[in-house]
Amino acid sequence: MTDAILVLNAGSSSLKFQVFDRAGDDLTIRLRGQVEGIGSRPSFRATAADGTALDPLDGLDTGHTGLLDRLRTWIADHLGGDPLVAAGHRVVHGGDRFGGSVLVDDAVLADLDALTPLAPLHQPHNLGPIRALAAALPDLPQVACFDTAFHRTQPALHRRFALPRDLHDQGIKRYGFHGLSYAYVTADLRHRVPEIAGGKVIIAHLGSGASLCAVEHGRSVESSMGFTALDGVIMGTRPGSLDAGVVLHLMRQGWSADRIETLLYKQSGLLGVSGISNDMRDLLESERDEAAEAVALFVHRIGREIGALAATLGGLDAVVFTAGIGERSAEIRARVCRQAGWLGVRLDPEANQRCRGEAGRISAPDSRVPVWTIPTNEELMIARDVVGCLTGA
Ligand code: AMP
Repeated sequence: MTDAILVLNAGSSSLKFQVFDRAGDDLTIRLRGQVEGIGSRPSFRATAADGTALDPLDGLDTGHTGLLDRLRTWIADHLGGDPLVAAGHRVVHGGDRFGGSVLVDDAVLADLDALTPLAPLHQPHNLGPIRALAAALPDLPQVACFDTAFHRTQPALHRRFALPRDLHDQGIKRYGFHGLSYAYVTADLRHRVPEIAGGKVIIAHLGSGASLCAVEHGRSVESSMGFTALDGVIMGTRPGSLDAGVVLHLMRQGWSADRIETLLYKQSGLLGVSGISNDMRDLLESERDEAAEAVALFVHRIGREIGALAATLGGLDAVVFTAGIGERSAEIRARVCRQAGWLGVRLDPEANQRCRGEAGRISAPDSRVPVWTIPTNEELMIARDVVGCLTGA
């Protein structure tokens, strides 16, 4: 019998899951999958650890209701009698209270509910499956793992907006996101290259959402994302940092909050500037000027952010790229590193070209600042935190 741990990452229209086998502290992926199109046309896809497709979950109705029960039964059928011993959930917001992953009980759930106004688009969807599992399996330990927790080490000054104090006291401050990714990459770097992991490191998480984080001694010092996941660098469909006056102007032009929200979360960024696609691959292949401009702006804003975070750190000992674009696009890494050349960053072009989706050093041997790619694994990070919470580590 092998203990199994379920990891869930629930969004507004998708539910991603992974199941890990646990033997002591060792975790091995057993199966993974996702339901997409919840609320419209749901589809299900799952694979075993070796990538073989597993049988589908047919006859899904459109909504969230009952979905988790169906999925739970499907998973149990594929565990061949092995027990599910715990579940871990990605939860976007842990507010000021949660500086690490936590076993969920009623009091924790109430605290997490209270944070919904800070992340209305995500928090309710993250908490729904926790409730559904608690109702079906009341004895199953469940662990909430937060995108914000890694950043709780940031100095208070870095978390403050220059707004009146009472707004800060109400929670309007910088939280930072992608924390599970940064926690994973930081741990992997410590294991792989301990001599640089303790220094001043900038991690660039460049996926469809993108942010950068300044890390010193393995702890977050500052991040490009702030109060929401809108801040910082350009993303697939989000603009990154934006003069708040733009929002005021649009409101005075009669734009509703919903329309502005759609603009900022779904229509801006690479998609908005290019008018073509939010996918970096499409833009790099396109010959249109608008695509080139979107890519150039993406690179420029990342270069600027690296400069700013290096100033916060008072130096730079390493750069690490991660997430979809950071792990796979040699072209974007090369252009970002060219822009950061003044900081002592120099790539090895061949190593950079070779490195696609795996960990490796991609800087030239004489680069003052080493550059690495490290594939992120937020689900494994969650599974590790589940084990940590179960063992009290
Ligand atoms: P993530 O959110 O980390 O899954 O990253 C997804 C994004 O990575 C996609 O939207 C693509 O734009 C980007 N991506 C994936 N593979 C490549 C590639 N080979 N070159 C450029 N971008 C890529």
